[in-house]
Amino acid sequence: MRALLLHGDRDLRLDDIDAPPPPGPGEVQIRVGAVGLNHIDVWGFRGMAFAKRRLPLVVGAEASGEVAALGADVTEFSAGQPVVMYGALTCGACPACREGRDNLCEAVSGIMGFHLDGFCRERVNMPARLVVPVPESVALTDAACAPIAFGTVQHMLFDNARLEQGETVLVHAGGSGIGTVAIRMAKAIGCTVIATVGDDEKGEKARALGADHVVNYRTERFEGEVRRLTKRKGVDVVFEHVGAETWNGSLLSLKRGGRLVTCGSTSGVSATINLMQLFQQQYRIFGSFGCSMGNIREALAKMAGGLHPVIDAVLPLSDSAGGLERLESRRVFGKLVITL
Ligand SMILES: [Zn+2]
Repeated sequence: MRALLLHGDRDLRLDDIDAPPPPGPGEVQIRVGAVGLNHIDVWGFRGMAFAKRRLPLVVGAEASGEVAALGADVTEFSAGQPVVMYGALTCGACPACREGRDNLCEAVSGIMGFHLDGFCRERVNMPARLVVPVPESVALTDAACAPIAFGTVQHMLFDNARLEQGETVLVHAGGSGIGTVAIRMAKAIGCTVIATVGDDEKGEKARALGADHVVNYRTERFEGEVRRLTKRKGVDVVFEHVGAETWNGSLLSLKRGGRLVTCGSTSGVSATINLMQLFQQQYRIFGSFGCSMGNIREALAKMAGGLHPVIDAVLPLSDSAGGLERLESRRVFGKLVITL
């Protein structure tokens, strides 16, 4: 069967590999339909010296597909049913996994497509507990954005930052995959959204998505704009994933007692923090990574309710490297999805 394998840094090849064996007990075999690209794929593609992995590696961390076959004891799925898969192989036995909080697994084997063979292959066997049914009305290309893009944002905004109706949220990189989701999810519950973008064209698109205010961070100091727009008060929540470049400005954008939630550091991993500012302003800072199984169900329910992902382009498997290069250089608005 066809699969997309990373053989070395920036060396992706479409190879022919063995199909998986029939699904064993507790397993589901899935015919992969669509794979969402994420920044974690870019890290993997350009090489991460500290990531424990063995090359060649099948790439793809976020995917949807259809059930192709079931292990003998699996009764909760049926052949042909659309599904999505969790993006990591968790243990299923530790206290976190038993509560469905798989992103806190104490014995995770690794992230699909990053540490372990991922989803860019025609068929894959997964433990049934890591497979989630997709509502009928949701397209497979949309569903492919549920396990990471939607799930991560759902977890950040609602489990961690506890964003509530009527609050003001600063969304960084409003044109990115997760930024576009954050704008839509925050607007859907009636929040005021200030989005940062890297160019004016993305600014227009972010506004069309519902952002109330847009700041071009290349031409304006976003923290100054935030203070002006909030009448010097600051925002309730900052949605961070840019990292070093924006960190201090993000803290300055928060109101007293505000919450910052972060899931990424695309501009660099180290930042300083003024501890006096942290405790005097009573900031709450949340690190967030991945999502729970429940967040994926919530994400799919939102999609079924009409909250669709912004998909910039749907690409064939053979264009994946080009897609990753576009993501890396930020020439994307929303998500890139690969179809098999
Ligand atoms: Zn576990």
